[in-house]
Amino acid sequence: MLDNTAPIAENLNTVRDLIKSHAKAAGRDENDINLLAVSKTKPVSDIVLAYESGQRHFGENYVQEGVDKVLQLKSFQGIIWHFIGPLQSNKSRLVAENFDWMHSLDRLKIAKRINEQRPVFKAPLNCCIQVNIDKEESKAGVLPSEVIDLVASMQTLEKIKIRGLMAIPKASDDKATQKNSFDQMRSLFEQCKQKFSDFDTLSIGMSGDIDVAIECGSTMVRVGTAIFGQRVKTNT
Ligand SMILES: *Cc1c(COP(=O)(O)O)cnc(C)c1O
Repeated sequence: MLDNTAPIAENLNTVRDLIKSHAKAAGRDENDINLLAVSKTKPVSDIVLAYESGQRHFGENYVQEGVDKVLQLKSFQGIIWHFIGPLQSNKSRLVAENFDWMHSLDRLKIAKRINEQRPVFKAPLNCCIQVNIDKEESKAGVLPSEVIDLVASMQTLEKIKIRGLMAIPKASDDKATQKNSFDQMRSLFEQCKQKFSDFDTLSIGMSGDIDVAIECGSTMVRVGTAIFGQRVKTNT
């Protein structure tokens, strides 16, 4: 009989080993790099398998799909849910009420809505500002030059906590191109850290560029395909 549990557990171990070896190569502490398992489009049963292998941080891109999963897995202790996709303001309440993190914040208007909608009994929503690091027309995120003012404008919002920056660089297999984008993110992150005491998260690196991201200071890699396999839907 086919054993479906093996691949996800094995893939997780492979990714953990990769994080370890790239951290070592970069002279960094492996514990400073968190693994976010991106489970978008994948069934709840896959998340359960990853959970049983010790994974706790999960990332979702689509609001309704994410909320469905959050609710179905309510009884699983210690899961930390990250919303990493684009958000329309009319859906902000669903993120405010159901997630622990949001990596795709790029507008003050949404921050204000979430700040009002976050339940009083929940801790502030941890947020990363999404940066359009390669200034692509098609991509969400603020321009690098706008990041500091935007973060400053959000400092008075008590139910959101700006923890850092996130980026999805332009697709490229070329390591030097990847490094160029990530180096810019690192320098922007360092500038923000000087100014904002809550800053501790640089959310960069996916299945295809995790090595370069760790070399460039990533503290959270968002890995989908390398853990759960190819997705059928190809939205992102
Ligand atoms: C899908 C997605 C990922 C994971 O991408 P993989 O290449 O499958 O590892 C990471 N971050 C964001 C924002 C995504 O949408």
